[in-house]
Amino acid sequence: MSTFSDLGLAEPLVRAVTDLGYDTPTPIQDQAIPHVLEERDLLASAQTGTGKTAAFGLPLLQLLADPRRRPVPGRPRALILTPTRELAIQIDESLREYGTHLRLRHACIFGGVSQKAQVNALSRGLDVLTATPGRLLDLHGQGHVDFDQVERFVLDEADRMLDMGFLPDVRRVIGRLPTERHSLFFSATMPPDIVRLSQQILTDPVHVEIVPESTTAEGITQRVMFVDSAGKKQLVLEVARDERVQRALVFTRTKHRANRLVKLLDRAGVSSAAIHGNKSQNARQRALGAFRAGELPILVATDIAARGIDVEGITHVINYDVPVEPEAYVHRIGRTARAGARGLALTFCDTEELPYLRAIESVIGQRVPVAGDRIGLPPEELEPGPVGQRRRPSRSAGPKGPGKPKPRRRRRRGGGGRSGASA
Ligand code: AMP
Repeated sequence: MSTFSDLGLAEPLVRAVTDLGYDTPTPIQDQAIPHVLEERDLLASAQTGTGKTAAFGLPLLQLLADPRRRPVPGRPRALILTPTRELAIQIDESLREYGTHLRLRHACIFGGVSQKAQVNALSRGLDVLTATPGRLLDLHGQGHVDFDQVERFVLDEADRMLDMGFLPDVRRVIGRLPTERHSLFFSATMPPDIVRLSQQILTDPVHVEIVPESTTAEGITQRVMFVDSAGKKQLVLEVARDERVQRALVFTRTKHRANRLVKLLDRAGVSSAAIHGNKSQNARQRALGAFRAGELPILVATDIAARGIDVEGITHVINYDVPVEPEAYVHRIGRTARAGARGLALTFCDTEELPYLRAIESVIGQRVPVAGDRIGLPPEELEPGPVGQRRRPSRSAGPKGPGKPKPRRRRRRGGGGRSGASA
């Protein structure tokens, strides 16, 4: 398995991604970064969630990081076109994180907001501009931005540009770029219009195709449980205390909810730790190590933090919150049933989350069956007994009296920290 340094990335970038908790490059990064660093054009089919932003962002920053070059006001050195405001913000934010040890200027522009701050950013001079096509053309028309210094161009989510009717604008922008340039092209799908567009943009490109993770991975049983939001807490405790749940990865929507869940479990006597973007790299490594070693039965994670997790023997993936992006669902449940093992993916869904569940079902092309029991197994697969007779260690162990079940599997890791707060 390669490392970020193996891919040819310089130390300041490797340090930045390490601080972000990226342990290993994702397949698209592995395959794209060395070619991009060699300034080859790239045609990549890859979806959001595969790590594609870093796949173009890291080498792009490295190629631009020449201290002798200063950006000229209103004339960005690199241009990233992306279809939506959210993506523009996300990309720019990622560039900020990746470029934290470099001295490069970047900003994003998009429609629907005042253009004043955007015009100011452009006039200060930018190494990388991330933009949606409409606003970019507006500002170009007003003379705030010119493209004659664009050395590197990234077209992100080309197929979505097409769906959203932005292709004419994209073509207009491309028509104004210098013909001598380095171009990278990303699209989740490759319909004929997009293939034609790529041919107009790219010169002798390297092709990289990332096949989306299969949702039908053998061995993953998927179940949904409908609860109200208050019921989720009760449910997660029941699941966490079940003997059959040996190693569970629990996903929450936010860092805050991850922290709260760890506290809830802690109060109930179940050891867990949270990993998310606010945790230091050390804390994350420690938590992951304990989880991997089987010392910590439950790891609570946000999608971002869970990106690099590859732990064998995860028996349960629990979606404490239904992911908003269907791709995140696919990615989450793929953490279990690895290497041919069996696993169960259990989703807690409240009424407000129902539309997200339906969106997931339409992407994976199947309905997620409703769980037969509290830990999500269909009745026929329950062991040793049917619903209601499963082992409840909390009760059987109960020396502390009724209502105060003895915590199970509580194991403090060394160092004396609180199980939840220390990782
Ligand atoms: P993207 O496909 O670029 O939208 O990335 C999806 C998410 O994965 C982002 O939140 C990134 O921060 C995260 N990510 C990207 N590359 C890695 C990596 N090598 N290891 C862990 N997380 C990553």
